[in-house]
Amino acid sequence: MTTFPLHLKAKNELTPHPMAQYWRKCQVEELFALPFLDLVFKAAEIHRQHFHSQEIQLSTLLSIKTGGCAEECEYCPQSARYDTGLERQEMLKVEEILEKAKIAKARGASRFCMGAAWRGPKPKDIETVSEIIRQVKALGLETCGTFGLLETGMAEDLKNAGLDYYNHNLDTDPARYHKVVHTRSHDDRLDTLGKVRQAGLKVCCGGIIGMNETRPERAGLIASLANLDPQPESVPINQLVKVEGTPLADAEELDWTEFVRTIAVARITMPQSYVRLSAGRSAMPEAMQAFCFMAGANSIFYGDKLLTTENPEADFDRLLMAKLDLYPLQNSSTT
Ligand code: SF4
Repeated sequence: MTTFPLHLKAKNELTPHPMAQYWRKCQVEELFALPFLDLVFKAAEIHRQHFHSQEIQLSTLLSIKTGGCAEECEYCPQSARYDTGLERQEMLKVEEILEKAKIAKARGASRFCMGAAWRGPKPKDIETVSEIIRQVKALGLETCGTFGLLETGMAEDLKNAGLDYYNHNLDTDPARYHKVVHTRSHDDRLDTLGKVRQAGLKVCCGGIIGMNETRPERAGLIASLANLDPQPESVPINQLVKVEGTPLADAEELDWTEFVRTIAVARITMPQSYVRLSAGRSAMPEAMQAFCFMAGANSIFYGDKLLTTENPEADFDRLLMAKLDLYPLQNSSTT
């Protein structure tokens, strides 16, 4: 069991969501251009207005079906179109998934996220994952699914099974989406996000930084996320994990301050969202992660695997959180 103190209530449970402000891309670019420490300070102030500064939401992510995906997303080792040496794995058995979920809960995770490498689920896949969701939910965990594009009625089925969140990222600036993802459009993503909202599910939606985009394009991604109405409850900000065999394996290195700036701008533009430090964290030095928390990140993926790429070991995470006097949020489902 985790040794962190329990926390009573997330601060942002107490405040209603304000009317969303529309963010023009140029306004977001202006935030990016602030002096680095001023930007971090501004983000830290806004973070403290809406959340307890020591509280971190912990999610554990499990790949329940890995690889062999028909889609062509240049960053992803799970695409069947790239030779990355990734071992394919068919759908895990329910018992295996439940075992992992119990371990995640015992280690302090409040949310269990399940990902399947599909363009989108088929009706029989929805039946299978619905049963899994029901059983994970019965363990007392929040549930999140990332299963790709949804057909009409699927989001409702997932909601009825007890799903809390649906993850569906906008990935990158809408204007360059087609340069990174070749088998679906930005509008397809928005369509599924609309279905998810319509069904009453909470939205987890973010993107990936470090895919050769420019700063204005990073601003474009953040503006597109911040202008979702309502804003996503969870915003995962991923740093590209460069996997050999994918077209982005040789992407240009991103300076760490630029990643921290992106976290800070996400916090300022989406003040009531959980901003999650997601993929790429295993390559981040502790001091950089600390800066990200200072800049308003208040959620992490927790555990030793992040779909198919490495994630810092849970013990390492616990140690880092203890050093920074951070502790896990017990449950964010009422936010
Ligand atoms: S990001 Fe998702 S949809 Fe794209 S190739 Fe990877 S698993 Fe498939």
